[in-house]
Amino acid sequence: MYNKQSNTRQHTHSFGGFILLQAIALLLLIGNTGYGQERIPEITAMELQRDVFYFSSDLLKGRYPGTPEDDLAAEYIRNQFQKAGLTLLSDDGFQHFNIVTTVEAGNRNSLRIADYEAVMKEDFIPLAFSKNDHISAGVVFAGYGFEIDEDSLQWNDYENIDVQNKWVLILRGDPELEDQESLFISYSADRDKVLTARDHDAAGVLLVSGVEYDSKDKLEELHFDKTLSNAGIPVIHIKRHIADKILEETGENIGQIETLLNDTLRHFSFDLSGRIDASTEIILQEVQTQNVIGMVEGNDPDFLEEYIVVGAHYDHLGLGGPGSGSRVPDTLAVHNGADDNASGVAGVIELAYKISANKKKLKRSIIFIAFGAEEMGLLGSAYFVKNPPVDLVSIKAMVNLDMIGRLDKEKRAVMVGGTGTSEETESILHKLNKEQLSLSFSPEGYGPSDHASFYGENIPVFFFSTGAHIDYHTPDDDAYKLNYYGEKDLLEYIDKLLMYLSGMEEPLTFKEAGPKKRSGKGYRFKVTLGIMPDFTSTEENGLGVGGVNKDGPAYSGGMKKGDLIVAMDGKPVTNIYDYMNRLKKLKPGQTITVDIIRQGEKKVLIIQL
Ligand SMILES: [Zn+2]
Repeated sequence: MYNKQSNTRQHTHSFGGFILLQAIALLLLIGNTGYGQERIPEITAMELQRDVFYFSSDLLKGRYPGTPEDDLAAEYIRNQFQKAGLTLLSDDGFQHFNIVTTVEAGNRNSLRIADYEAVMKEDFIPLAFSKNDHISAGVVFAGYGFEIDEDSLQWNDYENIDVQNKWVLILRGDPELEDQESLFISYSADRDKVLTARDHDAAGVLLVSGVEYDSKDKLEELHFDKTLSNAGIPVIHIKRHIADKILEETGENIGQIETLLNDTLRHFSFDLSGRIDASTEIILQEVQTQNVIGMVEGNDPDFLEEYIVVGAHYDHLGLGGPGSGSRVPDTLAVHNGADDNASGVAGVIELAYKISANKKKLKRSIIFIAFGAEEMGLLGSAYFVKNPPVDLVSIKAMVNLDMIGRLDKEKRAVMVGGTGTSEETESILHKLNKEQLSLSFSPEGYGPSDHASFYGENIPVFFFSTGAHIDYHTPDDDAYKLNYYGEKDLLEYIDKLLMYLSGMEEPLTFKEAGPKKRSGKGYRFKVTLGIMPDFTSTEENGLGVGGVNKDGPAYSGGMKKGDLIVAMDGKPVTNIYDYMNRLKKLKPGQTITVDIIRQGEKKVLIIQL
């Protein structure tokens, strides 16, 4: 009640559009967080808008998993499910699980060289993927730490040394930092070098930045890189003056050695006589988050123990920052995630009201889920399929909504993923399309959102999205930019689909469509976008696309002939060399963003390699 009054009052103020909308969002929060609002069973643009404004307001701080604001969002969803008349599953609608969100250096980190006791965070820091251990051992200098055996490049820093059970001191980067095409690039990541050292039975690795690599000699900041597996040996980043102490007996400092290596392009390694005593302690911080789960039970006794799942993730990137998935990791600001994925979860809530009101018509039961921690690697949906509240084989289809708020008014383009995962999918989707949506299909069951977890369990999936855009994973993904009437149309279409799936005599016939998982290993394999560069282009600010291979990932991501690629994963691409270079660093299965210019307009595509 209070809320409504406040809203009306605010409308009379002459704020600019953006500020006004923010103000409304704020009042919704301060008021009654929307619970008290009467809702009708029908899907309405206004109700969608109200929910999206709530989820994407600054007060929810980007819904980062494990934060109080994340819990607030989950509670809001649970309460809406309850009001809609859903049966709450799991623990009163919440399915809790633990995730790692941050890494910290513990108190037990130490580093001693002869009688010098180094100071953590001033002289050294353990890297996030370091193993926790205590090692006292001799030390070997191993140049850039390469072991490269290619036709066009031979460089083995381990040739004449024995590093077994010793610390290895390694320079970061490579000797051709200026060279964008350098063959060293694919070998120069810290983690790759540590792996090589471990293959040679090193006890631990000390990494140091040369002067050319980082004149400021900044210590690495700890951030969780979403891989729980550590390197298997301790890894410490040390400052140059510490490296110089280790190298003292040689009469050279690390800067001089770096210059020599880079100028001659000849590798050399050597034993040192000192001992290094060090402990590493990396603490992975666990927090609790949750999925929110409710159900509308079917009416047909023969079918009600079969289920159709409809879900959307409600988490987002919080304040962004390095390692968060933000495309502007240097900017710490609320990533509101209005399209990604307040739009999807608002959609699930609206569908819950509508389907609950029509439950007499249901055969199979419908389960509604808001997933947590999707942005951290589909963690909520992965937890759900490992700990399902109903038998997994009784789940007959999964419909995932991720970024459904930006339907273009003219083009009405909707991307549907997973269309190859059942025999019947394509014909059903065509048949139900009375909304004149311009559907584009991609068959793969795996994809960059929660449906992938279900496809991995042989469940037919539907992945709906209105596509990526320039604000994707930035603080500018705001509520006022959404097309709520367009989203309503799309949801009405999805409602028909859910009712159809619930009522089918025989469930969908599952069909395999592409790999079940992201391939975790083999990151030295080459990946391809499946495009043909336009070699005739005179464009100097990007790479022209001369053709797109229909079987390639670029095609599935919506790339077209004539597009100009200007960035990959947020890093600029100005020519074919940049492009090749960026490509080299990508791993199969990885999802990347590609910024393009199409007919003068900037667009962002999400491409799964
Ligand atoms: Zn996202």
